[in-house]
Amino acid sequence: MGQVIRKDAEPEFQHSSFVQSCAYCGARFAVFVSRERGGDAEEGYACPECDKSYHTHAALEPMVSLLAARSDGKKDRYQETMF
Ligand SMILES: [Zn+2]
Repeated sequence: MGQVIRKDAEPEFQHSSFVQSCAYCGARFAVFVSRERGGDAEEGYACPECDKSYHTHAALEPMVSLLAARSDGKKDRYQETMF
């Protein structure tokens, strides 16, 4: 997790966000991404409730903010398993 760095002086960054529902536990969370023309890469983030990992294209590691608790009633963590 990185610290928030103010980028006011760098207009190249495009900030956007979207709301996602976790496919594993049903939690809803907002994902904040900073994109940069030509600077995007595959960045990972995790569901704040179960730690299931997701990926998106962004210039910096995305930040997530929990909006609604998980809906599956469990307390386990998502296990990355090989199928
Ligand atoms: Zn989850």
